[in-house]
Amino acid sequence: MIWINNVETPCYVIDERRLRENLEILAEVKRRSGCKILLAQKAYSAFATYPLIAEYLDGCTASGLYEARLGYEELAEPFGRENHIFSPAYRDEEFDEIAGICGHISFNNIHQYEKFKDRAKGASCGIRINPEFSTQEHGIYDPCGEFSRLGATIANFPDLPDGVEGLHFHTLCEQNAEPLCKTMAAVSEKFGKYLGRIKWLNMGGGHHITRLDYDVELLIEEISFERNMYGFDVYLEPGEAVALNAGYLVTTVLDTFRNGMDIAITDASAACHMPDVLEMPYRPNIQGAGLPNEKAFTYRLGGNTCLAGDIIGDYSFDNPLREGDRLVFEDMAIYSMCKNNTFNGIALPSIYLLRENGEHELLKKFGYGDFKGRLS
Ligand SMILES: *Cc1c(COP(=O)(O)O)cnc(C)c1O
Repeated sequence: MIWINNVETPCYVIDERRLRENLEILAEVKRRSGCKILLAQKAYSAFATYPLIAEYLDGCTASGLYEARLGYEELAEPFGRENHIFSPAYRDEEFDEIAGICGHISFNNIHQYEKFKDRAKGASCGIRINPEFSTQEHGIYDPCGEFSRLGATIANFPDLPDGVEGLHFHTLCEQNAEPLCKTMAAVSEKFGKYLGRIKWLNMGGGHHITRLDYDVELLIEEISFERNMYGFDVYLEPGEAVALNAGYLVTTVLDTFRNGMDIAITDASAACHMPDVLEMPYRPNIQGAGLPNEKAFTYRLGGNTCLAGDIIGDYSFDNPLREGDRLVFEDMAIYSMCKNNTFNGIALPSIYLLRENGEHELLKKFGYGDFKGRLS
Protein backbone atom coordinates (compact mmCIF):
# COMPACT_ATOMS: atom_id res chain seq x y z
CA MET A 1 0.00 0.00 0.00
CA ILE A 2 2.33 2.73 -1.22
CA TRP A 3 -0.34 5.39 -0.83
CA ILE A 4 0.10 5.30 2.94
CA ASN A 5 3.25 7.39 2.72
CA ASN A 6 1.89 9.66 -0.01
CA VAL A 7 -1.06 11.14 1.84
CA GLU A 8 -1.19 14.04 4.25
CA THR A 9 -2.23 12.98 7.72
CA PRO A 10 -4.53 12.84 9.44
CA CYS A 11 -6.77 11.70 6.62
CA TYR A 12 -9.62 9.39 5.85
CA VAL A 13 -9.16 7.17 2.82
CA ILE A 14 -12.29 5.72 1.23
CA ASP A 15 -11.62 2.37 -0.43
CA GLU A 16 -13.70 2.27 -3.60
CA ARG A 17 -13.11 -1.44 -4.20
CA ARG A 18 -14.32 -2.40 -0.73
CA LEU A 19 -17.32 -0.13 -1.12
CA ARG A 20 -18.26 -1.89 -4.35
CA GLU A 21 -17.85 -5.30 -2.70
CA ASN A 22 -20.38 -4.25 -0.05
CA LEU A 23 -22.73 -2.89 -2.69
CA GLU A 24 -22.54 -6.19 -4.61
CA ILE A 25 -23.74 -8.04 -1.51
CA LEU A 26 -26.58 -5.57 -0.99
CA ALA A 27 -27.56 -5.85 -4.65
CA GLU A 28 -27.73 -9.61 -4.27
CA VAL A 29 -30.07 -9.22 -1.27
CA LYS A 30 -32.24 -6.87 -3.33
CA ARG A 31 -32.31 -9.16 -6.31
CA ARG A 32 -33.17 -12.34 -4.41
CA SER A 33 -35.59 -10.89 -1.85
CA GLY A 34 -37.24 -8.21 -3.95
CA CYS A 35 -36.64 -5.56 -1.30
CA LYS A 36 -35.38 -2.04 -1.85
CA ILE A 37 -32.27 -0.77 -0.09
CA LEU A 38 -31.48 2.83 0.79
CA LEU A 39 -28.26 4.38 2.07
CA ALA A 40 -28.72 5.89 5.56
CA GLN A 41 -26.62 9.01 5.12
CA LYS A 42 -26.10 9.63 8.81
CA ALA A 43 -23.49 6.86 8.81
CA TYR A 44 -21.81 7.72 5.54
CA SER A 45 -22.32 10.77 3.36
CA ALA A 46 -19.21 10.87 1.17
CA PHE A 47 -21.16 12.11 -1.79
CA ALA A 48 -18.24 11.76 -4.20
CA THR A 49 -19.08 8.06 -4.12
CA TYR A 50 -22.85 8.48 -4.57
CA PRO A 51 -22.61 7.77 -8.32
CA LEU A 52 -21.18 4.33 -7.44
CA ILE A 53 -23.85 3.81 -4.77
CA ALA A 54 -26.57 4.80 -7.24
CA GLU A 55 -25.48 1.94 -9.52
CA TYR A 56 -26.62 -0.52 -6.84
CA LEU A 57 -29.08 1.00 -4.36
CA ASP A 58 -32.57 2.43 -4.71
CA GLY A 59 -31.89 5.73 -3.03
CA CYS A 60 -31.04 7.25 0.28
CA THR A 61 -32.60 8.31 3.53
CA ALA A 62 -32.04 11.29 5.79
CA SER A 63 -32.37 12.17 9.44
CA GLY A 64 -32.76 15.88 8.85
CA LEU A 65 -33.19 18.60 6.25
CA TYR A 66 -29.54 18.96 5.25
CA GLU A 67 -29.04 15.24 4.74
CA ALA A 68 -32.24 15.23 2.71
CA ARG A 69 -30.89 18.05 0.55
CA LEU A 70 -27.57 16.30 0.07
CA GLY A 71 -29.30 13.07 -0.90
CA TYR A 72 -31.56 14.91 -3.29
CA GLU A 73 -28.78 16.91 -4.97
CA GLU A 74 -26.17 14.17 -5.21
CA LEU A 75 -28.10 10.92 -5.54
CA ALA A 76 -31.88 11.01 -5.88
CA GLU A 77 -32.22 13.80 -8.41
CA PRO A 78 -29.25 13.14 -10.73
CA PHE A 79 -29.74 9.36 -10.76
CA GLY A 80 -33.54 9.17 -10.52
CA ARG A 81 -33.46 7.41 -7.14
CA GLU A 82 -35.70 7.66 -4.06
CA ASN A 83 -35.23 10.19 -1.27
CA HIS A 84 -36.67 9.26 2.16
CA ILE A 85 -36.62 11.00 5.53
CA PHE A 86 -37.46 10.29 9.14
CA SER A 87 -37.26 12.76 12.01
CA PRO A 88 -38.53 12.48 15.60
CA ALA A 89 -40.25 15.84 15.08
CA TYR A 90 -40.27 18.09 12.02
CA ARG A 91 -39.72 21.82 12.31
CA ASP A 92 -42.52 23.92 10.91
CA GLU A 93 -40.19 26.21 8.94
CA GLU A 94 -38.39 23.27 7.31
CA PHE A 95 -41.25 21.00 6.38
CA ASP A 96 -42.21 22.51 3.02
CA GLU A 97 -38.65 22.23 1.76
CA ILE A 98 -38.49 18.63 2.96
CA ALA A 99 -41.76 17.78 1.23
CA GLY A 100 -40.42 19.33 -1.96
CA ILE A 101 -37.46 16.96 -2.15
CA CYS A 102 -38.55 13.76 -0.33
CA GLY A 103 -40.82 11.22 -1.95
CA HIS A 104 -41.27 9.28 1.32
CA ILE A 105 -41.72 10.93 4.70
CA SER A 106 -41.88 8.93 7.94
CA PHE A 107 -43.41 10.52 11.02
CA ASN A 108 -42.67 9.64 14.62
CA ASN A 109 -46.31 9.36 15.69
CA ILE A 110 -49.87 9.98 14.55
CA HIS A 111 -49.87 13.55 15.86
CA GLN A 112 -46.88 14.52 13.69
CA TYR A 113 -48.59 12.96 10.68
CA GLU A 114 -51.86 14.80 11.29
CA LYS A 115 -49.99 18.08 11.78
CA PHE A 116 -48.08 17.94 8.50
CA LYS A 117 -50.01 15.59 6.17
CA ASP A 118 -51.70 18.37 4.19
CA ARG A 119 -48.30 19.85 3.34
CA ALA A 120 -46.74 16.54 2.23
CA LYS A 121 -47.14 17.46 -1.48
CA GLY A 122 -47.87 13.96 -2.69
CA ALA A 123 -45.05 12.28 -0.75
CA SER A 124 -45.86 8.80 0.47
CA CYS A 125 -46.33 9.12 4.23
CA GLY A 126 -45.45 6.55 6.85
CA ILE A 127 -45.38 6.31 10.62
CA ARG A 128 -42.57 4.90 12.70
CA ILE A 129 -43.69 2.26 15.15
CA ASN A 130 -42.05 0.99 18.30
CA PRO A 131 -42.54 -2.77 18.67
CA GLU A 132 -41.23 -2.55 22.28
CA PHE A 133 -38.99 -5.50 21.63
CA SER A 134 -35.35 -4.97 22.62
CA THR A 135 -32.77 -7.19 20.98
CA GLN A 136 -29.60 -5.69 22.48
CA GLU A 137 -28.26 -4.31 25.72
CA HIS A 138 -26.80 -0.93 24.74
CA GLY A 139 -29.38 1.52 26.10
CA ILE A 140 -28.11 4.41 24.00
CA TYR A 141 -28.80 2.40 20.82
CA ASP A 142 -32.09 0.87 21.91
CA PRO A 143 -35.19 2.66 20.64
CA CYS A 144 -37.34 -0.02 22.31
CA GLY A 145 -36.29 0.80 25.86
CA GLU A 146 -38.49 2.26 28.58
CA PHE A 147 -39.74 5.82 27.90
CA SER A 148 -38.37 5.71 24.34
CA ARG A 149 -39.08 8.81 22.29
CA LEU A 150 -38.70 6.95 18.98
CA GLY A 151 -41.74 5.50 17.26
CA ALA A 152 -45.37 4.98 18.28
CA THR A 153 -46.13 2.11 20.62
CA ILE A 154 -49.27 0.10 19.92
CA ALA A 155 -50.95 1.90 22.85
CA ASN A 156 -50.45 5.14 20.92
CA PHE A 157 -51.56 3.61 17.61
CA PRO A 158 -55.30 2.86 17.93
CA ASP A 159 -55.88 2.87 14.17
CA LEU A 160 -54.09 3.38 10.88
CA PRO A 161 -54.90 6.99 9.92
CA ASP A 162 -56.35 7.61 6.47
CA GLY A 163 -53.65 8.33 3.92
CA VAL A 164 -50.83 6.52 5.73
CA GLU A 165 -49.13 4.26 3.18
CA GLY A 166 -46.22 2.88 5.16
CA LEU A 167 -44.87 1.77 8.51
CA HIS A 168 -41.30 2.15 9.64
CA PHE A 169 -39.36 0.52 12.43
CA HIS A 170 -35.71 0.88 13.34
CA THR A 171 -34.64 -1.12 16.36
CA LEU A 172 -31.38 -2.87 15.47
CA CYS A 173 -27.73 -1.88 15.76
CA GLU A 174 -24.91 -3.88 14.17
CA GLN A 175 -27.08 -6.99 14.33
CA ASN A 176 -27.53 -10.22 12.43
CA ALA A 177 -30.68 -11.50 10.71
CA GLU A 178 -32.08 -13.43 13.66
CA PRO A 179 -32.85 -10.36 15.80
CA LEU A 180 -34.65 -8.95 12.76
CA CYS A 181 -36.82 -12.08 12.52
CA LYS A 182 -37.68 -11.85 16.22
CA THR A 183 -38.44 -8.14 15.89
CA MET A 184 -40.64 -8.84 12.89
CA ALA A 185 -42.56 -11.40 14.95
CA ALA A 186 -43.16 -8.72 17.60
CA VAL A 187 -44.24 -6.25 14.91
CA SER A 188 -46.69 -8.80 13.49
CA GLU A 189 -48.08 -9.62 16.91
CA LYS A 190 -48.72 -5.99 17.84
CA PHE A 191 -49.28 -4.24 14.51
CA GLY A 192 -50.36 -7.21 12.36
CA LYS A 193 -53.84 -5.78 11.82
CA TYR A 194 -52.31 -2.88 9.87
CA LEU A 195 -49.78 -4.83 7.81
CA GLY A 196 -52.28 -5.89 5.16
CA ARG A 197 -53.31 -2.28 4.62
CA ILE A 198 -49.95 -0.61 3.89
CA LYS A 199 -47.97 -0.25 0.67
CA TRP A 200 -44.54 -0.37 2.27
CA LEU A 201 -42.75 -1.50 5.38
CA ASN A 202 -39.38 0.05 6.18
CA MET A 203 -37.29 -2.22 8.42
CA GLY A 204 -34.80 0.53 9.27
CA GLY A 205 -31.05 0.09 9.61
CA GLY A 206 -28.73 -1.76 11.95
CA HIS A 207 -28.57 -4.80 9.64
CA HIS A 208 -24.87 -5.70 9.49
CA ILE A 209 -25.43 -7.38 6.14
CA THR A 210 -21.90 -7.02 4.78
CA ARG A 211 -20.20 -8.43 7.87
CA LEU A 212 -18.59 -11.80 7.16
CA ASP A 213 -20.74 -13.80 9.56
CA TYR A 214 -24.05 -12.18 8.58
CA ASP A 215 -26.74 -14.68 7.67
CA VAL A 216 -27.76 -13.28 4.28
CA GLU A 217 -29.85 -16.36 3.48
CA LEU A 218 -32.03 -15.87 6.57
CA LEU A 219 -32.49 -12.18 5.74
CA ILE A 220 -33.61 -13.01 2.20
CA GLU A 221 -35.96 -15.70 3.52
CA GLU A 222 -37.49 -13.33 6.08
CA ILE A 223 -38.04 -10.48 3.63
CA SER A 224 -39.48 -12.79 0.98
CA PHE A 225 -41.83 -14.33 3.53
CA GLU A 226 -43.22 -10.97 4.68
CA ARG A 227 -43.54 -9.67 1.13
CA ASN A 228 -45.49 -12.75 0.05
CA MET A 229 -47.67 -12.65 3.14
CA TYR A 230 -48.68 -8.99 2.93
CA GLY A 231 -47.83 -7.84 -0.59
CA PHE A 232 -46.09 -4.67 0.53
CA ASP A 233 -42.73 -3.30 -0.58
CA VAL A 234 -39.96 -3.82 1.94
CA TYR A 235 -37.25 -1.21 2.47
CA LEU A 236 -34.01 -1.64 4.35
CA GLU A 237 -31.97 1.45 5.13
CA PRO A 238 -28.55 0.36 6.37
CA GLY A 239 -25.83 2.91 7.00
CA GLU A 240 -22.96 0.90 8.42
CA ALA A 241 -23.40 -2.07 6.11
CA VAL A 242 -22.95 0.10 3.01
CA ALA A 243 -19.47 1.30 3.89
CA LEU A 244 -18.40 -1.30 6.46
CA ASN A 245 -14.62 -1.79 6.30
CA ALA A 246 -14.48 0.51 3.28
CA GLY A 247 -12.23 3.21 4.68
CA TYR A 248 -9.21 4.01 6.81
CA LEU A 249 -7.97 6.77 9.03
CA VAL A 250 -4.26 7.31 8.50
CA THR A 251 -2.31 9.02 11.25
CA THR A 252 1.29 9.94 12.02
CA VAL A 253 2.99 9.30 15.35
CA LEU A 254 3.98 12.72 16.73
CA ASP A 255 5.75 11.72 19.93
CA THR A 256 6.46 8.75 22.19
CA PHE A 257 7.45 8.59 25.85
CA ARG A 258 7.02 6.49 28.96
CA ASN A 259 4.79 7.02 31.98
CA GLY A 260 4.40 3.61 33.58
CA MET A 261 3.89 2.27 30.08
CA ASP A 262 4.83 3.34 26.57
CA ILE A 263 2.65 6.11 25.22
CA ALA A 264 2.38 7.45 21.67
CA ILE A 265 0.65 10.67 20.63
CA THR A 266 -0.88 10.65 17.14
CA ASP A 267 -2.20 13.40 14.90
CA ALA A 268 -5.56 11.63 14.89
CA SER A 269 -7.78 12.15 17.90
CA ALA A 270 -10.42 9.77 19.24
CA ALA A 271 -12.44 12.72 20.48
CA CYS A 272 -12.33 14.66 17.19
CA HIS A 273 -11.85 12.12 14.43
CA MET A 274 -13.29 8.82 15.64
CA PRO A 275 -15.92 9.89 18.18
CA ASP A 276 -17.57 6.46 18.26
CA VAL A 277 -14.41 4.99 19.77
CA LEU A 278 -15.33 6.93 22.93
CA GLU A 279 -19.11 6.96 22.50
CA MET A 280 -19.88 3.45 21.36
CA PRO A 281 -17.28 2.55 22.74
CA TYR A 282 -15.15 0.25 20.62
CA ARG A 283 -11.57 -0.53 19.69
CA PRO A 284 -10.65 0.08 16.03
CA ASN A 285 -8.16 -2.28 14.42
CA ILE A 286 -4.79 -1.00 13.28
CA GLN A 287 -3.17 -2.73 10.32
CA GLY A 288 -0.24 -4.82 11.50
CA ALA A 289 -0.89 -4.24 15.20
CA GLY A 290 -2.11 -6.65 17.86
CA LEU A 291 -3.79 -6.75 21.24
CA PRO A 292 -1.75 -5.44 24.19
CA ASN A 293 1.31 -7.67 24.79
CA GLU A 294 0.51 -9.87 21.80
CA LYS A 295 3.50 -8.39 19.98
CA ALA A 296 6.77 -7.19 21.47
CA PHE A 297 6.04 -3.47 21.96
CA THR A 298 2.81 -2.27 23.56
CA TYR A 299 1.72 1.37 23.45
CA ARG A 300 -1.21 3.39 24.65
CA LEU A 301 -2.25 5.53 21.67
CA GLY A 302 -3.86 8.89 22.23
CA GLY A 303 -4.71 12.00 20.28
CA ASN A 304 -3.23 15.46 20.53
CA THR A 305 -6.11 17.14 22.37
CA CYS A 306 -6.26 18.27 26.00
CA LEU A 307 -8.85 15.64 26.91
CA ALA A 308 -7.29 13.09 29.30
CA GLY A 309 -9.64 10.48 27.92
CA ASP A 310 -8.66 11.07 24.29
CA ILE A 311 -7.30 7.54 24.19
CA ILE A 312 -7.74 5.31 21.17
CA GLY A 313 -6.59 2.18 22.96
CA ASP A 314 -3.64 -0.07 23.80
CA TYR A 315 -1.97 -1.81 20.86
CA SER A 316 1.16 -3.89 20.37
CA PHE A 317 3.63 -3.72 17.49
CA ASP A 318 6.56 -5.79 16.20
CA ASN A 319 8.87 -2.78 16.38
CA PRO A 320 9.08 0.25 18.63
CA LEU A 321 7.03 3.19 17.34
CA ARG A 322 9.02 6.19 16.17
CA GLU A 323 8.10 9.77 15.41
CA GLY A 324 6.86 9.95 11.84
CA ASP A 325 5.59 6.36 11.71
CA ARG A 326 2.23 5.98 10.05
CA LEU A 327 -0.63 3.95 11.45
CA VAL A 328 -3.71 2.86 9.54
CA PHE A 329 -6.95 2.48 11.48
CA GLU A 330 -9.46 0.23 9.77
CA ASP A 331 -13.20 0.56 9.26
CA MET A 332 -13.16 4.34 9.42
CA ALA A 333 -15.54 5.25 6.61
CA ILE A 334 -18.65 5.02 8.78
CA TYR A 335 -19.75 7.37 11.57
CA SER A 336 -16.45 9.23 11.17
CA MET A 337 -16.38 11.90 8.44
CA CYS A 338 -20.00 12.78 9.09
CA LYS A 339 -19.52 12.94 12.85
CA ASN A 340 -16.13 14.56 13.45
CA ASN A 341 -15.49 17.93 15.03
CA THR A 342 -12.80 20.55 15.56
CA PHE A 343 -12.61 20.44 19.38
CA ASN A 344 -9.38 22.08 20.58
CA GLY A 345 -8.94 23.75 17.20
CA ILE A 346 -7.69 20.48 15.73
CA ALA A 347 -7.92 20.26 11.95
CA LEU A 348 -10.43 17.98 10.30
CA PRO A 349 -8.73 15.10 8.45
CA SER A 350 -8.43 15.37 4.68
CA ILE A 351 -10.53 12.95 2.64
CA TYR A 352 -8.97 10.78 -0.06
CA LEU A 353 -10.51 8.29 -2.42
CA LEU A 354 -8.55 5.13 -3.17
CA ARG A 355 -9.72 4.24 -6.66
CA GLU A 356 -10.23 0.70 -7.83
CA ASN A 357 -7.21 1.12 -10.11
CA GLY A 358 -5.03 1.76 -7.05
CA GLU A 359 -4.62 5.50 -7.56
CA HIS A 360 -5.46 7.79 -4.70
CA GLU A 361 -7.10 11.15 -5.14
CA LEU A 362 -7.48 14.00 -2.67
CA LEU A 363 -11.19 14.78 -2.47
CA LYS A 364 -11.08 17.47 0.16
CA LYS A 365 -8.71 19.27 2.47
CA PHE A 366 -9.94 21.34 5.39
CA GLY A 367 -8.38 24.38 6.96
CA TYR A 368 -8.68 27.14 9.50
CA GLY A 369 -11.69 28.54 7.64
CA ASP A 370 -13.69 25.40 8.43
CA PHE A 371 -12.97 25.88 12.13
CA LYS A 372 -13.63 29.61 12.28
CA GLY A 373 -16.64 29.39 9.97
CA ARG A 374 -18.72 27.60 12.60
CA LEU A 375 -17.92 30.10 15.33
CA SER A 376 -18.76 33.74 15.83
C1 LIG B 1 -29.25 5.05 12.39
C2 LIG B 1 -30.39 4.76 11.51
C3 LIG B 1 -30.21 3.99 10.36
C4 LIG B 1 -28.87 3.38 9.95
O1 LIG B 1 -28.36 2.56 10.96
P1 LIG B 1 -27.03 1.69 10.73
O2 LIG B 1 -26.79 1.11 12.09
O3 LIG B 1 -25.94 2.63 10.35
O4 LIG B 1 -27.32 0.69 9.70
C5 LIG B 1 -31.30 3.76 9.57
N1 LIG B 1 -32.52 4.27 9.88
C6 LIG B 1 -32.73 5.01 10.98
C7 LIG B 1 -34.08 5.53 11.27
C8 LIG B 1 -31.67 5.29 11.84
O5 LIG B 1 -31.87 6.03 12.94
